[in-house]
Amino acid sequence: MSITPLMPVYGRCDFRPVRGDHCHLIGEDGQRYLDFAAGIAVNALGHSHAGLTGAIARQAETLMHVSNLYGSPQGEHLAQRLVDLTFADTVFFTNSGAEAVECTIKTMRAYHQHGGDANRFEIITFRNAFHGRTMGTISASNQEKLHSGFHPLLPGFRYVEFDDLDEAKAAIGPQTAGFLVEPIQGEGGVRMASQGFIEGLRSLCDEHDILLAFDEVQCGVGRIGSFYAYEHYGIAPDVLASAKGLGGGFPIGACLASEKAARGMTIGTHGSTYGGNPLGVAASEAVLDVVADEAFLANVRAKGDRLRGKLEQFIGNYPDLFEEVRGIGLMIGLKLKSEPRDFVAHLRDAHHALTVSGSDNILRIVPPLVIDDGHIDEFMDKLSAAAASYQPAEVAK
Ligand SMILES: *Cc1c(COP(=O)(O)O)cnc(C)c1O
Repeated sequence: MSITPLMPVYGRCDFRPVRGDHCHLIGEDGQRYLDFAAGIAVNALGHSHAGLTGAIARQAETLMHVSNLYGSPQGEHLAQRLVDLTFADTVFFTNSGAEAVECTIKTMRAYHQHGGDANRFEIITFRNAFHGRTMGTISASNQEKLHSGFHPLLPGFRYVEFDDLDEAKAAIGPQTAGFLVEPIQGEGGVRMASQGFIEGLRSLCDEHDILLAFDEVQCGVGRIGSFYAYEHYGIAPDVLASAKGLGGGFPIGACLASEKAARGMTIGTHGSTYGGNPLGVAASEAVLDVVADEAFLANVRAKGDRLRGKLEQFIGNYPDLFEEVRGIGLMIGLKLKSEPRDFVAHLRDAHHALTVSGSDNILRIVPPLVIDDGHIDEFMDKLSAAAASYQPAEVAK
């Protein structure tokens, strides 16, 4: 047998982390790596954060899982907290981002199919989006690389250009249920929607009584320096998918909705065995204890500005290697002149700094939200050393 025990769907690199220490990871061989990938924007509090690990340990000893058939004091408390913090009136908890998007899609369709216009099933999404890897969420993206081998896709999605309001408007028809958009595309290359685009989508939705849903799985929970990205735009969606940073490393996601948007989500329409179990909820409460705080969020913005400023200055030294810096808060994209994978590998293997590649030649810098100036300086040192020593031909696999 030649297949690996772990189904070989990931091209895993040679770095094999076994322990985390705040903003660093330690490999099997004992070497330390600066973690500016944070499990792809997940470890908001870094690794081994005492508040988070303590909350998980205490909850694990007390009560880990019960069925959603019972009342949930833990889930009610976290849901109320999210309701108080956001536009939402109600929350469904999931175990992942893709499941949060699935619940978002179902909420959008049910809005029209229960008490609205049952013909409105189609969800308009945007090119280069990433919404997850389930059949529904790959169908919601136009990206071929996600579809290959998995046809037929789920019908009922229509793709238009990201940040193009005219195309979005032209796509609305009698079958449209709403828009599903990442306000800041993550995997698609840290591309930020313009203010006019987000405002325009909101107006179109109000005009046509269709729903505006934001996929904030990556950009939410403090990542850009506001609790959710919609606050940055001053535009509230009707439905929002959250995950990644929400559990700080423990798997939990959430679908947030206004009362009106959730009108179709009645008893028996949706469910999850594990979703919102006390252990995940305890982890998320510990994350919110830190992140849902204006002073903390202001600090995320300040760190982001500082890191961005340094990156912008730095790339001028290597005009053949780097093209531009984009993003906001601690969701930063460094655009390379060519495919970034080799450089990401070089930065990791030779200089022990972890980043993530994305579409559009982007190297994603999504560190823990708790980094300090010392980590920023350490990152810039490693990045400078990596740029100085980078020889594309030699590093290429
Ligand atoms: C990561 C991500 C998802 C999928 O989350 P999973 O937890 O991997 O299912 C969905 N949408 C966006 C924007 C993401 O970045």
